[in-house]
Amino acid sequence: MTNSETIVALATPNGIGALGIIRLSGPDAITIANSVFKGKDLTQQASHTIHFGNIVDGDVILDEVLMSLFVAPRSYTRENVVEISCHGSAYIIESIIKLLIKKGARSAKAGEFTLRAFLNGQLDLSQAEAVADLIASNSKASQQVALQQLRGGFSNQLQTLRDQLVQFASLIELELDFAEEDVEFANRDQLKNLILQINKVIINLINSFELGNAIKQGVNTVIAGRPNAGKSTLLNALLNEERAIVSHIPGTTRDTIEEVLNIHGINFRLIDTAGIREATDTIEQIGVQRTMEKISQSALLIYVYDASQITLDELNQDIESLKDPGITMMVVANKIDLLNNEEIAALPHTQKEVVISAKEKFHIDDLKNKIYHAAIKDKLTGDETLVTNIRHLEALQKTEEALSRVLNGMDTVTSDFLSMDIKQALHYLGEITGVVSTDDLLENIFSKFCIGK
Ligand code: GDP
Repeated sequence: MTNSETIVALATPNGIGALGIIRLSGPDAITIANSVFKGKDLTQQASHTIHFGNIVDGDVILDEVLMSLFVAPRSYTRENVVEISCHGSAYIIESIIKLLIKKGARSAKAGEFTLRAFLNGQLDLSQAEAVADLIASNSKASQQVALQQLRGGFSNQLQTLRDQLVQFASLIELELDFAEEDVEFANRDQLKNLILQINKVIINLINSFELGNAIKQGVNTVIAGRPNAGKSTLLNALLNEERAIVSHIPGTTRDTIEEVLNIHGINFRLIDTAGIREATDTIEQIGVQRTMEKISQSALLIYVYDASQITLDELNQDIESLKDPGITMMVVANKIDLLNNEEIAALPHTQKEVVISAKEKFHIDDLKNKIYHAAIKDKLTGDETLVTNIRHLEALQKTEEALSRVLNGMDTVTSDFLSMDIKQALHYLGEITGVVSTDDLLENIFSKFCIGK
């Protein structure tokens, strides 16, 4: 795939900076850059070299710059690429880009450099998406997951599976050609085994989304408990600052407050909530309703109780009513500064229970570690591949559905129906890595990139 147009865009953020980098890509990138450059003849220079000189518009010097040359195919887009490091003034940058356009380049669209890298086979689609994730990553963990995807681990795994399935698809196609003779080229037992094997991998990938998404987007975490249990105080202790309103009048935290807490590279989106006790006045009621909604949308629930007040019955009642199989719950006994050692020892213990004083900041680090373990560490097995992209998740789900149809129909339906379902599975698997792509899909993915990427 070759693209005859040479594109140009600022690759660094808009606004004033010490330097700005303007990127050109396309067959004429080097000649266009050379036509405005006063220094060495860029068309005669080797790839991966840097050259100092002036950008000139006729007799007018626009800036002193460094030109970095990447000769096709040894570049990000596999086309000729020139990166111009100039001074980071909006005026200079605009003047240089205008000049380059006058000399034959055109403005790049959002994500067009990466689109070209994909179309020229430098990256597959999931890797191109990983580039966007990498740029957007805001924690060590999300950066690591994006990097792993960029290196292609995930795509390789899918490609191997897809290749195996393609073989079967062609054998079944062959059966269609000999339909009258009632032959079976594709051994049904082997096909069944392969599909079971593929489905296992696919289901693992589908299941990894919850964790992958938590790492990429952050873990939605709700702090809930009766009024006055110390939820706001705990939120402040975790964030180490005074954010939520703390008061001794029950039910002051009427609205929800969202803060991000980073533990070992994972973002936990903490939502402080109104008490879960039956509300009496209307404003409270809205708060309580919102709490239950927030809990149902969260992945981690930190249930806090006042260890100096609550009875065992009330505690059990709360835990029972909050239990949800889809949500990890941690039980936190607060206000232990008001208890003596025997009373602390007598507290009812559950597996994930933590004993703290939010006010005196006792055991807050211990709580943070346990939050991290409960939500992330305990769920990681080590070197698994994590799916973080909703588009991939949907394609995997559709693959799984198509494969299940193949499995269910194996003994009953004719080869042409089997062939159709296998083709569908291949189609969805291919959508992930971009073996199968439509203009709409590409437009949708790359338009979300920034211009210059
Ligand atoms: P919320 O309604 O659950 O948000 O509770 P708050 O955080 O507003 O706390 C209610 C009251 O309990 C406030 O007076 C806090 O100072 C107090 N409190 C919170 N945590 C502790 C604690 O660990 N020890 C003691 N002694 N008091 C606490």
